[in-house]
Parts: sequence; structure tokens; C-alpha cells
Amino acid sequence: MRHLKNVQQQIIRKFFMLFGSLKNNAPEKIINIRFYTNFNICNYSCPYCIAGQNDKQNMTTRWDSANLDQIIQNLTYLPYKINVRIGVKGEFFLSKKLTEGTRLLSLADNVHSVNLITNLSFSYKQYENFLHGFDHSKTSIVASYHPSEIKDKEKWIQVACHIKKRYDFAVVLVGYPPFIKDLLKIKKELTGYGIEVFVQGFIGNYNGREYPGAYTVEEKKLLRKVFYSRHDYEFFAESKKPGLCNAGYRSFYVDMTGMVRPCGMGALSPVIGNLLSNPEIKPWDGPRPCMYDACLCDTENINTVIFEQHYRQTGINQHKYIYRFKNEAEKFPQMDEWKINY
Ligand code: SF4
Ligand code: SF4
Repeated sequence: MRHLKNVQQQIIRKFFMLFGSLKNNAPEKIINIRFYTNFNICNYSCPYCIAGQNDKQNMTTRWDSANLDQIIQNLTYLPYKINVRIGVKGEFFLSKKLTEGTRLLSLADNVHSVNLITNLSFSYKQYENFLHGFDHSKTSIVASYHPSEIKDKEKWIQVACHIKKRYDFAVVLVGYPPFIKDLLKIKKELTGYGIEVFVQGFIGNYNGREYPGAYTVEEKKLLRKVFYSRHDYEFFAESKKPGLCNAGYRSFYVDMTGMVRPCGMGALSPVIGNLLSNPEIKPWDGPRPCMYDACLCDTENINTVIFEQHYRQTGINQHKYIYRFKNEAEKFPQMDEWKINY
């Protein structure tokens, strides 16, 4: 019975792949998909909890494990290569269902890679168990570093070093105002272990002020030194107004009801598919101007045209990339990432 079901699924998938290519609208590049699951159980209580505080996410509905299975199945039927980033409002590995679904995704033919995030609060042995059966070559892990919650920093770093040996790995820090002064030290310590570190701007209210817009000049000076790139600094610390964006063309946002939108910024984003019903997404025919004043939805700003003009990804991790003109800038300092008009 199970075999028959698998065969049936293969046929459906082949049909959609063929259908997509016949229509000649299958995008050529790997498509970035952010699947925001709303799984919201966590073993930490970070004072900022950007995952829970981001009101713009409220357009999505609650965690629904039945929907999860259907959406994951339809993701594997999409007729092009995809890089799926799983979003959570809690700790990813506290959900067996989510772990199992992501494992299946990592094994699917059309899935180029899966990106997942954890607070790295478990032992390496536990991570080995969680990740058993995943296609490791397609699995990228980001660990969020939460200074107020980590009990044993040395142990945390040891687990990070173990995971780094086996997976495409990076650490994310949060630009929470009280922690900004410590970020550079933390970053230096982690990069000393060969770990790549990026910083996400704080989105939320602190002391009655709304961030990231409320960063002071002094805070921005410090943030400039720790942000992964000029791009991240401009979007997260300076709230740069985005221009043309590939969201809806080569990048999609899927919520827990299966709704597919260009990005996760809010209700202005039109619906371009429903993965609860079928594996069909109607992508736009090219980049479009962003309708928002700033792109503050996690790292979705990597979908902008200005990003791809100036940076390129270095692997399967959606957070890791380099400045395209790094070599040229060595000869012509005016082309330095921080000197150009951005
Ligand atoms: S680990 Fe993440 S989800 Fe959990 S409390 Fe901290 S910020 Fe929130
Ligand atoms: S720039 Fe950001 S907010 Fe604007 S469309 Fe792109 S992903 Fe969405």
C-alpha cells in the first residue's frame, strides 16, 4: 500500500515537473523558499525573542502538524530546484514532526538544500540523533547565540565546533541594544574557532523605542564593526529602502496555511500559490519594485537585486556570501564594500 502511494507521488511529481517545463516558466536558478512554520515552543526565554515579537508574522496562522506534512510533500513536487529555509518561533529540534519533515525534504530530488536554525542547547550526541538520516551534504545549520540563556559557554562552543565539521554552519547574534557592546568580543571568539558569524538587527521595542529605527549613532558605529556585510548593515541598522527585488520571481514565502507570497513582510504581498492544495506557484516574470519602506523580515533582504549585483552566495547556507568585488578592491580601494555607493 505504502509502495503504491510512493509510486503515485512520483507520477504526480513528474507530471508537475513536465508541466512546468512545457510552460517554459520554470525559473532557471535555484529558488529560495522560506517556510515559516510558526512552531512556537522554546526552552529559552530570551529577553528580545525576535521570533515571537515580530508582529508582521501575524498574517500567518498557528502551527498545524497536518498542514506541515502536506506542504512539505508539495514542496518536493515543485518542478525546480529549491533551497528551503525553515522558520520557527521556538526551538526547531523540540518538534519531532518538524525534524522528520525537514529530513524528508533533505532527501527529495528537487531540494538543493535545507536551512534550519537551532539555539544549540543540546549535546552533540543529541544533535547526531536528531539529524540521523538527513542528507548532510544538503543540510545547513545556523545556531543562534543568546548570551543571557547560555549556561556553559565553553560547552556551547564545543558543540558548535563539532557541528561545523559536519555541516555548513554559521552563528547568528542579535543586535539587542544592551548586548551591542559585547558583540565584537563574542564574534572574535567564535571566528577564532573558524566559525562564521553574522548579526541580525533587533526588531522590536526596547525601553519604549522601536528598533531597528532607534539605533543611536554610537550603537551604529559598533554595529558597523560586527555586521557580516555592508548589505546587512544598511538593511538592519540603517533601514535602507529596498529597490527592485526578486521576491515572487526567484524567492517565495510559504506560511502554515500553505499560502505562498513573494515575501513575509505583510499583507501587501499578493498570494501566488497555495501549497496545501497543489504544488503550483505562479512566479512573476522578473524582479519587481519593493512596496515597503524597509525590508526587516529576517534575512529576506538577500532577495533584493542590489544584493545579487554586489554579493554572491558561497554555499548552501542562505546566510553566507561574499562581496563580489573583493579582489578588485585590493587594487582599487575606491571599490571597497564600505566605500561604494550602496
Ligand atoms: S531561542 Fe529563539 S525562539 Fe527561543 S526564546 Fe530565544 S529568540 Fe525566542
Ligand atoms: S525587499 Fe524585502 S520586503 Fe521588499 S519585496 Fe523584497 S523581500 Fe519583500
